[in-house]
Amino acid sequence: MKFLEEYRDYGAVRQMAQAIRRCTTRPWTLMEVCGGQTHTIVKTGLQDLMPEEITLVHGPGCPVCVTPLEMIDRAVAIAQRSEVILCSFGDMLRVPGSTQSLFDAKAVGADVRIVYSPLDALQLARSNPQREVVFFAVGFETTAPANAMAVWKAARKGIPNFSMLVSHVLVPPAMEAILSSPDCRVQAFLAAGHVCMVMGFEEYLPISRKYRVPIVVTGFEPLDLLEGVQMVVAQLESGRADVENQYARAVRRSGNRPAQERIAEVFEVTRRAWRGIGEIPSSGLRLREAYRRFDAESRFAVEIRHVEESNECIAGLVLQGLRKPYECPAFGTRCTPDTPLGAPMVSSEGACAAYFHFGRRKEDGNPIVPSATAGH
Ligand code: SF4
Repeated sequence: MKFLEEYRDYGAVRQMAQAIRRCTTRPWTLMEVCGGQTHTIVKTGLQDLMPEEITLVHGPGCPVCVTPLEMIDRAVAIAQRSEVILCSFGDMLRVPGSTQSLFDAKAVGADVRIVYSPLDALQLARSNPQREVVFFAVGFETTAPANAMAVWKAARKGIPNFSMLVSHVLVPPAMEAILSSPDCRVQAFLAAGHVCMVMGFEEYLPISRKYRVPIVVTGFEPLDLLEGVQMVVAQLESGRADVENQYARAVRRSGNRPAQERIAEVFEVTRRAWRGIGEIPSSGLRLREAYRRFDAESRFAVEIRHVEESNECIAGLVLQGLRKPYECPAFGTRCTPDTPLGAPMVSSEGACAAYFHFGRRKEDGNPIVPSATAGH
């Protein structure tokens, strides 16, 4: 398949790994901020191809993982109302809330449905005018255009029984939060190609300048990721800090203007809490006043208690690149994809799930996947 197989070519991958070795002279810690990229790195063993000076850490790039506990509880409480059909993407249903996941709520009678697009939820609202259809909208800038389009269409077509529970997050403020932390060990970023397809990469320029950090917009195949690493390492080794585009076959500097315009018409920037990290200013989206009547949070007044996360789960440290999943004491024992304690073990994009399914070996040579579960 064009633009796929050539980016998985083993010979080309090895050559690029050698190019990285040739240009690396010092230790560098690099972070990708995309769950899809994390999975490619872990699944294909790219870390093993790196020189030992390069450490890849995995950022808060899985939308399911960063959706706050309170928002899951709110979705569950709304789903429990008899008039509601609550729709979301499949991964969201398994994420543990403080007492229940959406799947648990479904098991005891809530009408919770998996959809593949917010437009499917809109269609459901049209065919069930006697019910309230709520779409649980999570994700980064990548899913925002389709969600904005669904609300815009609901307004244009006058579909009053459709609403959206919005928990959108934005990548650049999260990168800034990581860089401003006194514990930060990240020296360069691989920016997510699909986010930049929508938003372009001009908003990364001030971050790169302010924190003197190289940022390379990177694709998702093994060769993309290695080339992204080679580009950031070349910058680091030469003392440069620029924004560069490895994924030029898909990303333009200014991104997709019509998609940005649709997002800006329907949503406005707001502060948002990130699960495991905390509140980050200007890091989320909410519906603008003109579309607020489609806001499920205002439409359904449900009371949510603030609940502390399990102190066993170190997802916040994993998502900030301060720990690897296998450094969590619960990894692969008390926390598995069948019995997740935290969201990164649930989602197909979560770092803990990636290490569980495709895990490599720890530095001491012991498997990071317990042998009893290694067949998963
Ligand atoms: S392994 Fe489980 S408990 Fe540990 S950080 Fe990951 S999700 Fe949390």
